[in-house]
Amino acid sequence: MTETYERGLTRVADGCYAWMLPDGGWGWSNSGLIVDGEQSLIVDTLFDLKLTAEMLDAYAELLGTRDVTYLFNTHANGDHYYGNQLLPTTTEIIASSVAAAEMTQEDVDRIVGYKDLEGPVGDYIRKVFGPFDFSGIVATPPTRTFDQSLTLTVGATDVDLVFVGPAHTPGDAIAHVKDKGVVYAGDALFIGGTPIIWAGPVENWIRACDYLIGLDAEHYVPGHGPVTDAEGVAGVKRYLEFIKHEAEDRYRRGMTAAEAIDDIELGEFAQLGDSERLGQNVINIYTHLDPDHVAPSQPAPFEAMARLEGLPVTTGGEK
Ligand SMILES: [Zn+2]
Repeated sequence: MTETYERGLTRVADGCYAWMLPDGGWGWSNSGLIVDGEQSLIVDTLFDLKLTAEMLDAYAELLGTRDVTYLFNTHANGDHYYGNQLLPTTTEIIASSVAAAEMTQEDVDRIVGYKDLEGPVGDYIRKVFGPFDFSGIVATPPTRTFDQSLTLTVGATDVDLVFVGPAHTPGDAIAHVKDKGVVYAGDALFIGGTPIIWAGPVENWIRACDYLIGLDAEHYVPGHGPVTDAEGVAGVKRYLEFIKHEAEDRYRRGMTAAEAIDDIELGEFAQLGDSERLGQNVINIYTHLDPDHVAPSQPAPFEAMARLEGLPVTTGGEK
């Protein structure tokens, strides 16, 4: 089932909304809003201040005189929290304790600095992050954290925050609004685009997909892409199982990660956006398989993706 996928605000269910940024590729993320009575909860901010301000303006129209009671960050990637500083100081910011620990100014400065790197990695990053304006971002981490789960009450609506990591990142968590049949899944779900395994192990992400399907929600709002249903979640699981099988098979046959990346045919998954994430995914699976393999430090994994994208490019890069 494909629901409408347009830029801006969408009503998902009674009191549950999503703000979506097609095409859902690098940095083009979704946010959520839950409103009940005099309270509200926002799920994730966006990648830069301008995008987040535009979204908060639209949310403000819905909220009227209500405050933003809570902000829940699903994980610590910038496209889900770099706009946090625009929330009023009265808003309680919540994330898993693992995600919260990653949300530092040092991390912001490191990611923002990638745009200045030379060579194909820098070219690739300027290509995918070019549309975003990272100026003025002040890391604004949570004021409240949880380890496994936390239930918030928004008006009369219970919202269960549940840790499902490590999967896409070390600190992934989701928000389940059981009474409304809605799950805000963050980047546990990429719909229409290729999931990227920054943390893993991939088995744990596959388990997270099973958990999400087991919640039996009517609507799943992914971190990227259109709102989906359980079938859409099963599609994400299928990709992860495919990539796990393909990478493990080549690892056992003694291929290097680079050889495996070149050798794998994506088949039906080639049509997903950002298919070059295959590079990072294979590297990640190899890292978990080989206890002696040291995970390449960032931004080195972007090199494999830049190569799959046909870079080095000669754009001159600066935007
Ligand atoms: Zn994201």
